[in-house]
Amino acid sequence: MTNAAKMMRNLRAERRAAGLCPYCGETNDRPGKYYCSKCAEHHNEYSARFKSDRVVSRICPRCGGELDREGFTCISCNAKVRAATAKIKYRYREQGLCQACGKNPPKTGAKYCAPCALREQLRRRKTAGTTVSSTNNDSKLVGQQS
Ligand SMILES: [Zn+2]
Ligand SMILES: [Zn+2]
Ligand SMILES: [Zn+2]
Repeated sequence: MTNAAKMMRNLRAERRAAGLCPYCGETNDRPGKYYCSKCAEHHNEYSARFKSDRVVSRICPRCGGELDREGFTCISCNAKVRAATAKIKYRYREQGLCQACGKNPPKTGAKYCAPCALREQLRRRKTAGTTVSSTNNDSKLVGQQS
């Protein structure tokens, strides 16, 4: 997730906690609901249109072009996002910081700091199929990170 997206998410969480609509920041007139009535209307309209567009013509939401791969964005947008991510990771590595959060310095020779390494490990275990024996997987991961 990008820093901007993270900031947006924090902002929305703060607004929500303050009883405001996370989208527009106005008082939420529908307590217990995510959006205020105005935004809920817009949002429903938007997501309904967005969804049907995507299903029918498979449009990339980032550039508006054809969605030519399985996933959220098209091939060229996905490549751009990946390149940007790689750049950030490279910068973190140059600074000797964790390549996932860019905050904590990882152990010598490791890519990620302790909490991020743990998260990565859990994520990988979740996505790994049942065909891979988990004990094998564990020893491999430990070997890579130490
Ligand atoms: Zn609102
Ligand atoms: Zn695109
Ligand atoms: Zn980290």
